[in-house]
Amino acid sequence: MKKTLKDLASIVLVLCGSLTFCAKHYAPQREVERFHNVIVLIPDGCGVAHMAIARWFKGAPLAQDSMDVSFVRTFCANSMITGSAAAATAFATGFKTWEDSEKAKCLSVCPDSLLLPQAQEFPVSEQWRPVATVLEGARLAGKAVGLVATCRVSHATPAAYASHWHSRDNNSLLIEQMVYGDIDVVFGGGFRYLVDAHAQVPGSSSKGGRRDGENLYQVLRSNGYTVVTDREGLNTLEPNARKVWGMFADNHMVHDIDRSKLAPDEPSLAEMTEKGIEILSKDTDGFFLMVEGSQVDWSSHDNDPVGVVTDYIAFDQAVRVALDFAKSHPEQRTLVLIFPDHDNGGMSLGRRDMNSYAFRPEDMKSAIENASLTADGVEVLIWNSARNVGPNADSIEHVVAQYYGIADLTDEETEAILRELADTVDVNLRTVIGPMLSERAGIGWTTFDHTGNDVPLFSYGLSRVPQTLDNTEIAHLCAHAMGFDLSDVNDRLIVDAGELFDDATLMIDTSGVEMSKGHLIVEKDEKKAVFPFFKNVMIVGQDTVALEGLTLYSLKSHRVFLPRQVKSFFAAY
Ligand SMILES: [Zn+2]
Repeated sequence: MKKTLKDLASIVLVLCGSLTFCAKHYAPQREVERFHNVIVLIPDGCGVAHMAIARWFKGAPLAQDSMDVSFVRTFCANSMITGSAAAATAFATGFKTWEDSEKAKCLSVCPDSLLLPQAQEFPVSEQWRPVATVLEGARLAGKAVGLVATCRVSHATPAAYASHWHSRDNNSLLIEQMVYGDIDVVFGGGFRYLVDAHAQVPGSSSKGGRRDGENLYQVLRSNGYTVVTDREGLNTLEPNARKVWGMFADNHMVHDIDRSKLAPDEPSLAEMTEKGIEILSKDTDGFFLMVEGSQVDWSSHDNDPVGVVTDYIAFDQAVRVALDFAKSHPEQRTLVLIFPDHDNGGMSLGRRDMNSYAFRPEDMKSAIENASLTADGVEVLIWNSARNVGPNADSIEHVVAQYYGIADLTDEETEAILRELADTVDVNLRTVIGPMLSERAGIGWTTFDHTGNDVPLFSYGLSRVPQTLDNTEIAHLCAHAMGFDLSDVNDRLIVDAGELFDDATLMIDTSGVEMSKGHLIVEKDEKKAVFPFFKNVMIVGQDTVALEGLTLYSLKSHRVFLPRQVKSFFAAY
């Protein structure tokens, strides 16, 4: 489909220039002191119960216990309970957005409306507009920038810092923006989304996941990145490596406790964090790093105490690495912030069917500590066994006893697992066996989904502890800490093409845009420039000119956005 922007005057005319108003509207009033580095660590999908239970299990204080604490409100534009995409958009960009299965699950894109009156209004011209992130602002400020996660890196939290789309599910399109986003360090899973669907993922037996024919693995290497794929590669990086992608899994990495059995070559979150800081801190302008303990969330969805506790403790080790760096380099001034994106599961230390005042740490610990895999990992084993020898009670009881520490599975429980195995639509053993162990450990849950509870914010470095914040204020806090305002970043990086080229002919080709294809053509007199979507280049004739930001397209509003610099680049040609 080809349409000219001039045919769409009504859309173009609503163009704003009012983003300044919008961002100021959202900006916090508080003065924030300046920092050389900012490290944000996010344990996805948890609340204070997860932390308390992890602390009891660890038997010692968590690294975060030495930090200042306040609270964060997490609601999104359409619900008191947010999803990860809307939450990450809020603290990466300063904008509330929609997360709704029917309508849109926006990543660093404004919604078309705000359903909750508590979410601030914004001008109609902002509908579906991509909005700049803290990471993009840090990069413009000359800082090194990095993203570390244990999920695939195109998952909601890391992608919200680098990518813009109305749907969090388009992994190919989201990771493409990360590849062309000039990010210094990207560590996590998702290798298949760098590779075409007809090609083999390097070092793997599986095929790639892209349908646009692009080989982003090759693009990264052509752009000077070192790409490593396992712990050894990470540990043996050249000392002068400054731009590194670590693709440690085709899709998601495994849970921390599952690593030794299921994926021993993957590095831990703490190892990735340490190496990330080591690389980024070589930049004399400072750095911004986001670290996500991605899978606390998934174990909460499973009501699995093993995954929650062990992944939270793995996250805590990454926090220790960040704090050690901040404390041992006082001359650099490093702000460290820890906050979950949202609570999950309604987890509690204690449950309805127990004697609350006779609950000892060893009661809980003894129930969990014999597990050597998460419920997720056990599901894989039961499923494999069922495939090989067929579903049977003996093998289920054996696997659950050996790997999940439940040696006294009742007949009813075995039956429940067999029933789930027989489900022909969606086998989900995790959410069957997770609650079985929770019951034995005295751990309660109210839901298999997120909750709207406030979450804690731990901070190191601020001279004044913040009062309860809205999650959007975290974006402004980070931006101001690094010396910039997000409204300026929006004004420089994300400008409507119709405003920039109001005297030229614009043609938007959206063929295959859902597969990360499409481009904008600008023509004036004898000059013609092509701007491929989701890349940071302008093509004129045989020349490819690098841009300081991406060409962004909104499928919802059919508008294209470019860095402001393209106007002078085009004029100079
Ligand atoms: Zn989340």
